[in-house]
Parts: sequence; C-alpha cells; structure tokens
Amino acid sequence: MCPCGAARAEGRVRSPPRRMDPALPRAVLDGLRGGPLREVIPSTLGEPLLWPGMDALVDLCAERGLSLNLTTNGTFPGRGARAWAERLVPVLSDAKISWNGATAATAEAIMPGLDHAAAVEGVRAFAAVRDAHEHACGRRATLSFQVTAQEGNVAEIPAIVRLAARLGVDRVKLNHLQVRFAALAPLSLRRDAGAIARWNAAVRAARAEARGAGGRPVVLQNAVELSPDPAAPAPAGPCPFLDREAWLLWDGRLAPCPHPEAWRGALVDLGSVADRTLLEAWASPAYRALVAGYEAHPVCRACPFRRPGGA
Ligand code: SF4
Repeated sequence: MCPCGAARAEGRVRSPPRRMDPALPRAVLDGLRGGPLREVIPSTLGEPLLWPGMDALVDLCAERGLSLNLTTNGTFPGRGARAWAERLVPVLSDAKISWNGATAATAEAIMPGLDHAAAVEGVRAFAAVRDAHEHACGRRATLSFQVTAQEGNVAEIPAIVRLAARLGVDRVKLNHLQVRFAALAPLSLRRDAGAIARWNAAVRAARAEARGAGGRPVVLQNAVELSPDPAAPAPAGPCPFLDREAWLLWDGRLAPCPHPEAWRGALVDLGSVADRTLLEAWASPAYRALVAGYEAHPVCRACPFRRPGGA
C-alpha cells in the first residue's frame, strides 16, 4: 500500500513527443478510491500546463478531494498566470515554479526564451489569486520557487530568496544540478572545494534572507552546507521516494522513483497498469524487496536523490 499516497502522472516528455492519454490518470485513480492517496503530482519532463489532460485532472482532483502539487516553468502557457491560478488554486497544495535567477540576465541565460519581467508579473498575479482564495475560503495553496543551483546562479541565491519574500512566495527549494551528462559537470557546485565554498557561502546568506528581516519569512528547503572536502561527502540519507510515491509513466508503466535507471527497469519491474493495479504493484514481493534492501543496490548507493538538494 501507499502509506503517503502521492502519485505522479507524467504529462509530457521531450522529443519524440510522448503524451500520457488523459484517460489513464482517471483509470488509475478509480482504482485508488477510498485508499490513502492524497496528492497527485503531474510532472516532470516538460511543462505540465501544456498537457491536454490538465483540465480533466484538475476536475478529477476536485471530484475526489485530492490535492494537486504542480511544478511549472512559470510561463503559464495559453491562458496566462491569472487564469491558470483561478483554475488551479482551488485544488492546489503547492505550485513550484522553476526559478533560475534574481536578475533577468541570469534567469534568461539559464532558461533561453524566458521573459524574466513577465515571469515576475506572472508570480505576482498568481499570488494575488491565491491570496484572494485564502481570504474567501481559509485554505492556502503555497507558492514555491524551485531553484536548480549551479555555477551560473549561485551568487544570486540570496537575492532569489529576497525576491520570493517580496512576491508572496512561501518557500524556496534549492536543488543541486544533477550531472546527467559530461557537459554539465563544470556547472556543478559539488565538483570541487572552490565550488563547494561558493555554495556554502550562498547557503549562509540565503538563510539570513529567509528569516525575513524587514519582510515575511520564507521557508528555505535543502539549504544545507556541504562538507568542504568533495572526497569526503556526508553519508547518504534515506530514499525520499520508496514507499511514499508511486510513479506512473506516460505509457502506463510503473516506476519506483524518478531515477533514470529506475525508468529503464534497473531496480525492479513493476509492470504496467494495463496488467495490474497500482496497489498490486505496490504490494508485490519485488517492490517490497526493493524497499527493504535498496541501500545495497548499486544505483541506490550512488543515488543523488539521497543527498541534500537531490530531490
Ligand atoms: S535510485 Fe534513488 S530515488 Fe530511486 S529507489 Fe534508489 S535511492 Fe530511491
């Protein structure tokens, strides 16, 4: 069983385009009625607000009393920030907006095509709808900035926290850049002692900003200093996903976590919801064995999600 009850529904992935059939989440959620599921997280490769099934998923969440936990690039395609906020906020637990810089120069360099000024206004508009909804109903959806920390923006992390406070953003979540291919290695803040020192200084300054001197406090997540010696990192922590989240891929396959090796089947074969229910997969001996013994698996031993800022 899924004790925490989060299910991720992948809405869109990179080329070649592979979109989840909007009927698939409904079928899976039908099988989870009356269970412990409490949150749906449409993610993670590509922009979920471009997925044609989003309106149906929002309606489904409203109908079933489920929360929607959204990660978006903050461009609010097609409708603009205000209209998307009016659609989403009634079912939203949290909207994580990918945010890469406090200045236009940095943000637009990291995310080509972004209009930073428009993005700032989008957050302001979204927060206004969120606040009006809280005033009317007493229920607050949180707004978060999700920052992928790297050499290109480490100097602006404290200013990003300051900007978040000004815009009514509740939380800044810092993730380390994951080096999935060699070209990214020079941008990693974990790669050598100098990069680690820059990250640690940014963490200290960001914490001071988050305390909200002169403004409202911001929750700062994953702002953890690293061991100054890259050869002696802190021990890995627990897996943040096993037994907490079920991952439903675009074609109906189930995965234990978002690690690319897991999607390639290197950890466990959970099958597809075409052949078994999600709860059957969750209770299967293979999945239970992984939960009990993942720390011995070579992929899990090296997994970046087990480090602060990994997930
Ligand atoms: S690869 Fe990482 S995220 Fe996936 S199960 Fe192992 S420890 Fe957890």
